[in-house]
Amino acid sequence: MADTIAAISSAIGEAGIGIVRMSGNESLFIANKIFVGKKIERLTDANNRQLTYGHIVNPEDNSIVDEVLIVYMKSPHTYTREDIVEIDCHGGAIAVKKVLELLLKNGARLAEPGEFTKRAFLNGRLDLSQAEAVIDLIRAKTDKSYEASLSQLEGNLSLKIDDIQEILLEILAHIEVSIDFPEEDIEEVTYDELEDKAKVVLHMIDELISTADKGKILRDGLNTVILGKPNVGKSSLLNAILRENRAIVTDVPGTTRDIIEEYVNIEGIPLKIVDTAGIRDTEDLVEKIGVDRAKEVVEDADLIIAIFDASSELTKEDQQIIELVKEKKSIVLLNKTDLPNVYDSEYLSNILNGKEVINTSISKGEGIDILEKTIVDMFYGGRVKVKGEVLVTNVRHKNQLEKARKNIIDAIDGLNSCIPLDCIEVDIKNCWTNIGEISGDTVSEDILDKIFSEFCIGK
Ligand code: GDP
Repeated sequence: MADTIAAISSAIGEAGIGIVRMSGNESLFIANKIFVGKKIERLTDANNRQLTYGHIVNPEDNSIVDEVLIVYMKSPHTYTREDIVEIDCHGGAIAVKKVLELLLKNGARLAEPGEFTKRAFLNGRLDLSQAEAVIDLIRAKTDKSYEASLSQLEGNLSLKIDDIQEILLEILAHIEVSIDFPEEDIEEVTYDELEDKAKVVLHMIDELISTADKGKILRDGLNTVILGKPNVGKSSLLNAILRENRAIVTDVPGTTRDIIEEYVNIEGIPLKIVDTAGIRDTEDLVEKIGVDRAKEVVEDADLIIAIFDASSELTKEDQQIIELVKEKKSIVLLNKTDLPNVYDSEYLSNILNGKEVINTSISKGEGIDILEKTIVDMFYGGRVKVKGEVLVTNVRHKNQLEKARKNIIDAIDGLNSCIPLDCIEVDIKNCWTNIGEISGDTVSEDILDKIFSEFCIGK
């Protein structure tokens, strides 16, 4: 029998209420030991899911620990599918901690990170991709990221995975029949039919993979680097973007600012400005970190914003930057167009093999709207729609899809060259297994541990 686990499920910090959660067979028994109700004295006497008022009391000396609302939720209709007791204490660090300590003293064990959600998965309440969506939902950086996670939590990705698996099963059944009755001579028709089905699977997998770049950006943010020689306007641009697009979650006290503050929200796209500190503090990225490292930073970036100064001649540094951005997904700005110009956007565009150049005057706030629109166009083809779309946001899912894609291509090749069906069967089974790891049908214990260890305790 699984232990009864407990943890603080709300964030620690000043707040009206804090929630301690307990899950497992002993939940009600343990809660009864430390709860004394006002109208309903014992939690056992309350109805399932009835919020009950009273006190948490230390059974050793009958001292009051906190004034709470408590609820008992009977299995199986709960998040974990187990008995759950949730206690609404006062917020802040102390009340929740004291209540948790009492639960632990009276028979519960401290939950591991993500253990509530892991139980929800193990008990069949969520599949693995839905469980993973829970953490993405909590960490969503913009409303669009949130919508993508919510859609995954609702099971929309799972449905697609189920559809693919269903066709794979049909193929497997077809193959087995043909292998079991070899005397009936496997006709060419069989090969053709199987190939058609396998191609449908390939198409479905490709469709999902094609959403992965966009999905990853929504989940992890768009890694953006601003490049430009000293004084070209990099800090000014950063400030302008930050001013117009409130950095995400900066006004929530107690959040780790240095991590979260780097994201800005451009129409739902979380923009993560990489090496911001480096760019802010030093005169020049290339100068400071060297050409090789700059190349690396550029290589890792999803987007480069390169700025040039229209009011001064192109320098050697400008040339270096031109070389860096030629091949990459980049947006080029010609800044300081309010000053007398030495060259124009057409001239710069020619040097950049015809790349589009946006005229800006960052200090006057001109051109920044065009920059933002260009970012949106670039990553969503001008269309920021997430609701109702199924996006692959998770790199793990993308990797599994790519493995499955290889399997199904091998199968199609094999069918084309009419190799024996039991060889094809191996590819199809591998494909099924690889796809199954997304929803967790076929996932190993190690992978589960790794996934849930990324969760916070109490989730
Ligand atoms: P960085 O070294 O690339 O970060 O450049 P800064 O953003 O610090 O800008 C350097 C100087 O150029 C500052 O004095 C800015 O006010 C000024 N500046 C930035 N953009 C413009 C612009 O579009 N026009 C003009 N005239 N000055 C600008």
